[in-house]
Amino acid sequence: MANLDVLTYGFSFISPEGGFGWSSISLLEVGGQNIVIDTGPASRRNNLWSALDSRGLTPEEIDLVILTHMHWDHCQNTDMFGNARILVHPKEIDYAHNPNPADHNAAKYIADMMDKMRVEPISDGDVVADGISIIDTPGHTLGHISVVADVGEENIIVAGDAMPDGGTVTRKLPYNVFWDVNDATESVEKILDSSDVFYPGHDRPFRLSDGQVEYLHGPTQVEIVVSNEGNTVAPSLAYTVHSVREPNIQLVQKP
Ligand SMILES: [Zn+2]
Repeated sequence: MANLDVLTYGFSFISPEGGFGWSSISLLEVGGQNIVIDTGPASRRNNLWSALDSRGLTPEEIDLVILTHMHWDHCQNTDMFGNARILVHPKEIDYAHNPNPADHNAAKYIADMMDKMRVEPISDGDVVADGISIIDTPGHTLGHISVVADVGEENIIVAGDAMPDGGTVTRKLPYNVFWDVNDATESVEKILDSSDVFYPGHDRPFRLSDGQVEYLHGPTQVEIVVSNEGNTVAPSLAYTVHSVREPNIQLVQKP
């Protein structure tokens, strides 16, 4: 039986001015092993460092890193974990070496970083540790995987961007699809069929109860600090909250 903890909570903020990319980073402790799932964007490296430190862990003490996929916002901090074996789907490793020019979330320098690390292929059905297994969940990217973990009462799924938020349940699609819409839909169904408790890539963990999303834990407010010095008339920036996020399927790549 594993213990699952969230090191940094994910958020689905976007802006036409650029992506925040604040992905969830999870810690599994099982059988004396420390497993990190996704490593987040460089902008959250300090948060990740502090989260490990507050649990009495150093990056050197992480045995395994599982990457759901190789978009920048899920793997930029992988180099922190020099002692870890890095587990990635082989198709995702290939893709990182030769990303589609239209997918600006996959950068060649990430593959270069990974080439210096102990990367091992992993895919559907593989058992990582006692009670921890992998399911293929393609669609968002070609080699996307999710992690199924036995945490006692039930299995939970760490779903990455195959299920980035609670809205995926009603949308039946992740909000970004870079590989294939049908694959992405099937992956959402596969995830929903496999558990009632989900750890999304960019949202708080939730349970599905009678079809309703019930968030389990995590922050309900985020402070955004903006310097407004020198502006004496009115706030210089405004924020908009959308209740629905339309799926972006403009960049699908499956031939
Ligand atoms: Zn992604």
